[in-house]
Amino acid sequence: MYEGIIDFRSDTVTRPTKEMLEAMLNASVGDDVLGDDPTVNELELLASRITGHPSALFLCSGTMGNQIAIRVHTSPGDEIIVEDDSHIFQYEAGGAAWNSSVQLKTIEGNFGIINIDEISNSIREDDIHLPRTSLICLENTHNNSGGVIIPIDYIKSVSELAKSKKIKTHLDGARIFNASIASGISVSDYAENFDSMMFCLSKGLASPIGSILVGDEEFIKKARRVRKVFGGGWRQAGYLAACGIISLTKMVDRLKEDHEKARLFADQLSELEEISFSIETVQTNMIYFKINSISIVDFFKRITERNLLALGHGDKIRFVFHKDVSFEDVEKAIEIIKDIV
Ligand SMILES: *Cc1c(COP(=O)(O)O)cnc(C)c1O
Repeated sequence: MYEGIIDFRSDTVTRPTKEMLEAMLNASVGDDVLGDDPTVNELELLASRITGHPSALFLCSGTMGNQIAIRVHTSPGDEIIVEDDSHIFQYEAGGAAWNSSVQLKTIEGNFGIINIDEISNSIREDDIHLPRTSLICLENTHNNSGGVIIPIDYIKSVSELAKSKKIKTHLDGARIFNASIASGISVSDYAENFDSMMFCLSKGLASPIGSILVGDEEFIKKARRVRKVFGGGWRQAGYLAACGIISLTKMVDRLKEDHEKARLFADQLSELEEISFSIETVQTNMIYFKINSISIVDFFKRITERNLLALGHGDKIRFVFHKDVSFEDVEKAIEIIKDIV
């Protein structure tokens, strides 16, 4: 169906590899709600080893992982601190209010980084009039800032602050493997600073479906129950877990190619005066840019006519780089953009 189309909308469009399809055919499966799917159990063990957290839970989506984490870490009426342009605040359909009856204290960040004093000042005192601050969430890489990496020193200072105030921390690490490959800092070094972390197998890591939530044993035991409440208990999930195992063992190192594609694209784009973006935000596999010569509507009309897909984001255009666009495709996209802007 995708014949001839170059799809830069998201790394979620990546198709499973041939090896993944074969692994699905050959997977040993059981009933995961009953706890006896061996391939799911193997994937969860592997995820726990890689992240350094004692326990892991395989889920259908990243959104479900974030929502379950919020539910487990909070009680109704609590307040959670999130960055203003975070996925949890912007793109989870108000789920924190809906699923967990918590309110969000959003703080404007700078490329995903919320000033530490502002976090500190936002933490509520123990007072019968006030909501309880029970959770701080960060996002790494920070999607809406262009896939930028959140510095580890900053993460450590947020983690220390939270610990000193007895507040839980959760990392939306949908693309934590991109952050790790680009920064050289291991996923476990990022993850150890949080009580829980979610990451996606279904983005750059190329699984068709699936995300993972990690934390300590008590947290994951509760998370497993909340997943059931959310209707997320699944049966022969081992067919999907088989892909997830390949994502974690074979698809991580190649993310650096996606970053090189983004870099190539950014370097070429930076030569066009009709286009603006800040090159220092191009750190992993995406880029957001503005065009000043034609309207966004015209831009999308013209690229679509030429079989190129991307996404709009307010007054910006987003291109995401992944295994199913080649370096040649990137060159082709640049030629098309040069033609139309
Ligand atoms: C994609 C994404 C999610 C959610 O993942 P889904 O599997 O699409 O629900 C969460 N956070 C961030 C930063 C994301 O980019």
